[in-house]
Amino acid sequence: MCRAAAPLFAALFVAACGGAPRPDPAAAPPRPAPSRGFVLVSIDTLRADRVGAWGYGRPTTPFLDRLAARAALFERAYSPIPATLPAHLSMFTGLEPGQHDVDPPSGVLAAGIPTLPELFRAAGYRTAGHSEGGYMAGGYGFARGFEVWTDSEYSADSDVERTFGRGAEFLRGLAPGERFFLFLHTYAVHDPYAPAPEFAAALGVGARPPGAPEPTGENLAAFNRGELAVDADTARWYSDLYDASVRQVDAALERLWGEIERLGLADEVTLIVTADHGEEFLEHGRLAHTQIYRENLHVPLLVLSPGIDAPRRIGAPVGLVDLLPTLVDLAGLERPAVLAGTSLAPWLGRPELPLDRVVWAENDPPGGREESVLVRRDGETWQLLRARSEAEPDGFWVSRRIRFDHRGARLDFSAVAFAGPREVEVRADGRTVATVNLTGDWSDHAIPLPGDGKHAIELATPDCRVAREAGGWDDDRCLSFKVRGPAPDRVELYALDRDPDSTTDLSERQPARLRELTAELARIRHQPVAPSGQADLSPAQLRQLEALGYL
Ligand SMILES: [Zn+2]
Repeated sequence: MCRAAAPLFAALFVAACGGAPRPDPAAAPPRPAPSRGFVLVSIDTLRADRVGAWGYGRPTTPFLDRLAARAALFERAYSPIPATLPAHLSMFTGLEPGQHDVDPPSGVLAAGIPTLPELFRAAGYRTAGHSEGGYMAGGYGFARGFEVWTDSEYSADSDVERTFGRGAEFLRGLAPGERFFLFLHTYAVHDPYAPAPEFAAALGVGARPPGAPEPTGENLAAFNRGELAVDADTARWYSDLYDASVRQVDAALERLWGEIERLGLADEVTLIVTADHGEEFLEHGRLAHTQIYRENLHVPLLVLSPGIDAPRRIGAPVGLVDLLPTLVDLAGLERPAVLAGTSLAPWLGRPELPLDRVVWAENDPPGGREESVLVRRDGETWQLLRARSEAEPDGFWVSRRIRFDHRGARLDFSAVAFAGPREVEVRADGRTVATVNLTGDWSDHAIPLPGDGKHAIELATPDCRVAREAGGWDDDRCLSFKVRGPAPDRVELYALDRDPDSTTDLSERQPARLRELTAELARIRHQPVAPSGQADLSPAQLRQLEALGYL
């Protein structure tokens, strides 16, 4: 029997109720609601391997570790995209980024796609959500379904106490027996990595290295564009500050949980702690969260629930898209017609069940596209990564990020230097093979390469600034190249359990695994469930996004 759905998303429920439901072989029948309320905490930018319960040796998370000893812990949970807005919308909709179709900076979730708070509210739950703004502003679709929503303006000192305090205030205001859903989001571990001094002292964070740029969003983005130098010592200092911020969030979580206990809700609430993506500290040459390597995808996912009889560690790979189906299952909510994720409810506190998930991840870096699948096979977690440059029939463009793979004995390219001439060094596989002088006009270049195979090409210029800064063309690229010939895909294969830092590409040594996962990747095609809208961003919103290093 179908329950009535709110008109906002009735159209999508028609498919679920009127026709045959989409079979989901992994999902068991819905479980009865195990708890009166649900609290979902998203710690923006928290990578799993900086949490003690996921194996970190530093005491960053004493409280979370104690909680994990009583909870279901997903050892291998992955973000679908290292970007705050689309990753959180995947949590909120159970859809992959290509299905909810919301791209930063101004995409808005289609009204017809139901969100988690809407499903809770339609089922009679009280709902409240508090975020710290930026890409978590309510207008993107996050505020929908919440009776109470705040998205405090992002500031360099993210106030996790204030954000979590708002959540505690909501809990205190509940009438006896009222069911509820509370969502909390914090940027406390996001750049600019600004922990309170006592947490930095607790982890023994050293002084700022001489000459180190502050870890602001703008500086990290400038480094990634090749416009600012950051050495290994500085990156280590950033990483230490990040750890201290994790320790600070852990303390805030402990206080929130203390309030839940004081209110007598601890035995009635399901608490989920997770993150939208991780963070990188030069593991693959960049900072912040810009690539789809493990450090940016592997997130914590912990579920503490009175319905869980015994703590468990679940080793199968799962995705953030699995959150909504899991909560739908646990709370007995109406199931949306289209879901990419799988309910994990049957795996909570139960004996080992097979779970064969192919987890998807993607990324849209400037001038290209990255796609990935993560699976567990024969006791190992595999990641296949395929990166493509934007291609045109007669060649492909390389701009801003001037590193790419090239196959063949010769590199042919046309180039222009915006805002004045430049000397550009061409390196192949780390060795200088030519130096070319570019003018403000187009010029053609042909450079011999050492051999016919695949080469890692780098085009380097010592003073590459963006054209806008230099007062030149209205184009934010410093240099622009068009390389003749088809753009080669960059394909990489990693065994993440034995090589968690993804240092050894196994794509040539494991041809069978490469073929298998390439077929998995090719099988997946995501179509938008409904076209996204476009927001008019206010000057204040633009300032916030700029401060986060996103624009
Ligand atoms: Zn984020």
